[in-house]
Amino acid sequence: MTKRPEEIALMAESGKLLASVFTHLDQLNLIGMSTMQVNDLVDSFIVNELKARPASKGQYGYAYALNSSRNSVVCHGVPSATEILQDGDIVNFDITLEKNGFIADSSKTYLVGEVTASAKRLVQVTYEALWKGIKAVRPGARLGDIGHAIESHARKNGYSVVREYCGHGIGREMHEPPEVLHWGRPRTGLILKEGMVFTIEPMINQGRHDVETEDDGWTVVTIDGKLSAQFEHTVAVTKTGVQVLTLRAGERALA
Ligand code: MN
Repeated sequence: MTKRPEEIALMAESGKLLASVFTHLDQLNLIGMSTMQVNDLVDSFIVNELKARPASKGQYGYAYALNSSRNSVVCHGVPSATEILQDGDIVNFDITLEKNGFIADSSKTYLVGEVTASAKRLVQVTYEALWKGIKAVRPGARLGDIGHAIESHARKNGYSVVREYCGHGIGREMHEPPEVLHWGRPRTGLILKEGMVFTIEPMINQGRHDVETEDDGWTVVTIDGKLSAQFEHTVAVTKTGVQVLTLRAGERALA
């Protein structure tokens, strides 16, 4: 489950490339774009500019370079030419990239145009919750410490944490052990060791935590139709703490 320093160096390379995909997305005006247009841009950027591979294509029979999850979609939304991003939407783009055999995984929720204060607050608290989880990572800490840090922050702000989907180990495979839950009790679960690499990717709901999958077999939505937001980074446990392998330009750790 742990990786050697030279493997982590390669994963950091994949992570850096993936971070640049989001920097590229940051420059778009999303209003009026279809989620398929965003997918196609990301696909060609990864393949042609970065000389890398969109790792989600072909995985589990999935055909696209990203998942796009808008408003009440929690995760695994499928890009579509008829889904046009509107002023006021929030939308998560979840992207995986493989280079030199190693995969990085990251997601970000974007505010499209003028978003309501309550939607903006959900997105902000979700981002903070991700960083609360990241800050809990160090050798000797436990997986439950990460989940507890995330869940406490969400609940304190009146939100709920999706329980059906979790972070995961990652490396040559997109999904490796362990499962990284976004809720839990402190000082429980697997003890973290230097060299472990996994994702943290909390999905935080405005209303109830319950979700359901739509008839397409992919799209996961909130059961009450309220908003859901998500952020994700791939992290490595270091000798003294944590390295965020997918850290984006201009992004700094929150306390
Ligand atoms: Mn992931």
